[in-house]
Amino acid sequence: MGTEARVEIWEENPKKAARLIKQVIEEMERINQLMSPYISSSELSKLNKSAAKRPIKISKELFSLLKTSQEFSGLSHGAFDITFASVGYQYDYREGKSPSKDFIDKNKSLINYELIKLNKKKSTVTFLKPGVKIDLGGIAKGHAVDQAINMLLQEGVEHAFVQAGGDSRLIGDKKGRLWNIGIRHPRKEGEVITQVPLENVAISTSGDYERFYIKNGERVHHIIDPRTGKSSSKSISVTIIADSSTKADALSTTVFVLGFEKGLALIESIPGVSAIVIDNQGKFHYTKDLNSY
Ligand code: AMP
Ligand code: MG
Repeated sequence: MGTEARVEIWEENPKKAARLIKQVIEEMERINQLMSPYISSSELSKLNKSAAKRPIKISKELFSLLKTSQEFSGLSHGAFDITFASVGYQYDYREGKSPSKDFIDKNKSLINYELIKLNKKKSTVTFLKPGVKIDLGGIAKGHAVDQAINMLLQEGVEHAFVQAGGDSRLIGDKKGRLWNIGIRHPRKEGEVITQVPLENVAISTSGDYERFYIKNGERVHHIIDPRTGKSSSKSISVTIIADSSTKADALSTTVFVLGFEKGLALIESIPGVSAIVIDNQGKFHYTKDLNSY
């Protein structure tokens, strides 16, 4: 999925530690093969190739993540929408390329999660219009981290840190101290803007500095507002703390698109979830539970 992963385990037995780290790497690679848009044999690529023509049978795992994605779309009234890719696939941030205004106008209506039809009994997916495409970049890394953490929990690990891109999750504390999770400085490469001491939770950051290019002074980046088909400009960085990485990942992308007012209102309505938002003026906003920090 085009990102870097990291795993840290506290384990007395070095052989077991080496085996577990290998298993985490294999699990991440397995999910990459399933869900990457860059791999033409991935289940996700197969959907984008054929699901508008006929129902495509997919694995329970992908089906379940699509269903979860739909739930976040419903919850956010479409701010989180994996069909953003119907327009989004035309952006190439490395090459500095965006789709034309004409292309966006013609294809914007294909950004609509209701065009994905899931059949649970048959485990199939159909796209209701030609041209619909999906991308799980806003949620799959969180899923991969959860999968790795669940495996480590089953193996009895009591202290661990797993990270994929901006998505991290912790098991326990760091042997008697809290884990200090840094939030990247959105405008200074290689620096952190703040650190959050945590244990036993997931934390995800979405930022406009991850994949972007600048043209005529305007930042064109990878988080797309489904209503416009263009980069969302309300936030520059959003961090979510939650009990699962999948949830934190989906919600960080969601709140980024919603902006701090609507975004924080949404997070306040979900028990056990916290948010730190840096708006497009560089101002910090927190959920009420974090205001004392
Ligand atoms: P994250 O770093 O978790 O915010 O994920 C950003 C990625 O989410 C992008 O690179 C896209 O693959 C995907 N994405 C962009 N816009 C949206 C959106 N509105 N809804 C869901 N996924 C999105
Ligand atoms: Mg995300």
